[in-house]
Amino acid sequence: MATAREVKEYLAYWMQLGRKLVIGDRVVQLDRVIAGDHYTTRFEELWQEGQAHPTTTCLEGSNVTLQQLLAPNYELLECPRCDLPVPSASLGPRSVQPCPCDDLNIWPNFDTVPPHPPINTASQLRSLQERLGKS
Ligand SMILES: [Zn+2]
Repeated sequence: MATAREVKEYLAYWMQLGRKLVIGDRVVQLDRVIAGDHYTTRFEELWQEGQAHPTTTCLEGSNVTLQQLLAPNYELLECPRCDLPVPSASLGPRSVQPCPCDDLNIWPNFDTVPPHPPINTASQLRSLQERLGKS
């Protein structure tokens, strides 16, 4: 069972790679998910909206809804190919859902800064800047 925080990060990771969020019959893509040490207002709004409609909210390309992700029979595992979180049924035969990286041409790409949660401390920001400066 994933925590709300893990599910939020899972959505944020994939949306940083351009994946869209499906909420009911709407499909939303964000240019910016992270703004320094916090999520963007737009992402927070989508997250609130998704939590209000958990049965119809999922990542584009995934058939696992927010409600399923937050239930005990699902968990988030690291994709063996790209290390990003991917939903997996935690009961019965363990089958990892197809990872959203399956049909995402730009990912995995180990030359770019990987998707990340909001950065909280100045030191983490410094190390990110150093990595960006080197590439
Ligand atoms: Zn993957």
